Amino acid sequence: MASSYTICLLPGDGIGTEVTECGRRVLDFLSEQGGPSFDYDVRPAGYDTFLEVGHSLPDESLDAAKLADAVLVGAMDVAQIPPHGGDPLGGLRIGLEVSASVRPSRTIDGIIGPADDIDCVVVREVTEGLYSRDEYMGDDNAAYAVRVVTREASTKTARMAFAQAVARQEIYGRPSRVTAVHKVGVLKLSDGLFLEACADVARDFPEVIYETANVDACAMDMVRNPGHFDVILATNVFGDILSDVAAGLAAGLGLAASACIGDRWAYFEPVHGTAPDIAGKGIANPCATILTVAMMLRHLGEDESADAVENAVYAVLAKGTVRTGDLGGVATSAEMTNAVLTALSTK
Ligand code: ATP
Repeated sequence: MASSYTICLLPGDGIGTEVTECGRRVLDFLSEQGGPSFDYDVRPAGYDTFLEVGHSLPDESLDAAKLADAVLVGAMDVAQIPPHGGDPLGGLRIGLEVSASVRPSRTIDGIIGPADDIDCVVVREVTEGLYSRDEYMGDDNAAYAVRVVTREASTKTARMAFAQAVARQEIYGRPSRVTAVHKVGVLKLSDGLFLEACADVARDFPEVIYETANVDACAMDMVRNPGHFDVILATNVFGDILSDVAAGLAAGLGLAASACIGDRWAYFEPVHGTAPDIAGKGIANPCATILTVAMMLRHLGEDESADAVENAVYAVLAKGTVRTGDLGGVATSAEMTNAVLTALSTK
C-alpha cells in the first residue's frame, strides 16, 4: 500500500504562496495516480504573518513543522521584518535543528544558460557565520557584525557535503570532489576552525577527493571552469553567494531547488525569494518548487515519485513549448504546472 505523509506548508509571502500551490498540485496528482498520499497542515509564517499577528514565526507554526513528516516552504520576505518581528527562516532552522542546506545546480537540456557543463551541489552552513544576527552599533560611529563559526555546525555541514559526494559517486560512477571554500588568509581563526573541521571529516572519506579554495578564486573558477566543481562546502554567506552563482550559471533562480536536512527534521524551499516584481501576477516559474518537492520526496524515501517528478520537469523544459517569462516564454505558473502534470501522466 502507498505511504501517507503529513506535509507542513509554510507558503510565506509574495510568489511563495503561488509556487507552493503549484507544488501541492504535483503532490496531489501523484496521489491521484496511486502514489503516496499527502495531508497538508498549512501554517502562517513570514512578513504578512508578522503584520497580522506581530511575529513572523508563531510558535504554533513551528510546532506544526515539528509534527509533520516534512516541511515545504514557499518564500519569506525576511528583509522587511523588523528585529522584534523575529526571523522566520532562522527560527525554523534553529527550531528544526538543521544546520546545513543542499542546493544542486545543473545544466538542463533545452535551457541555454551561461554554462553548458555545470553539475554541482553547494552545501552551506545556514545558522551562523556572518548571518549570526549578532550585530550592534559601537560608540565609535561604526556598526559591527559578529561572524560565528563553531566546530559543531562546521562538522555537521562537512558531513552533509561528504554524504552528498558519496551519493553522487554512486550515481555517476566516478570519484567525487569536495571543495571547501574559505578566506583563511584574512579570517584566520574562524575559517581556520572551519577548515580544521572539514579536514577532520575528509579523513573519514578517503575515496572522495578533497580540496580547499579561496572564495574569490572559487567564484572566478566557477565562471571559467564550472565543470570542475562537484560538491562545494561553505560557510553561510560564502555558500549563499556561491549557490546563486551556480544557479545563475546553470538555469537561473526559477529552476533552483534546495533542502535543509537535520538529524530529526528537514525542510525544503526553492532558492528564490519572494520576487516582489512579479508577485501576484501568477507568472512565477513553479519549477524550482516542483524540483524542491522532488528533493522532499527523495528525503521521504519516495525515490520513484521523486525521479518521475524530476523527469517530468526536465521533459517539459527540453520540449520548450511551455515556458514562464524568466525562461523566455509566456506561460503562467498554472500552465507550467499543467505541462509538468501532463508529462507526469505520460511517463
Ligand atoms: P531574497 O532577498 O529573498 O533572495 P531577492 O529579491 O533578492 O529576494 P528574488 O526574490 O529571488 O531575490 O528575485 C530575484 C529576481 O529573480 C527577481 O527579478 C525575480 O522576479 C526573479 N525570480 C525569482 N524567482 C523567480 C521565479 N520562480 N520565477 C520567475 N522569476 C523569478
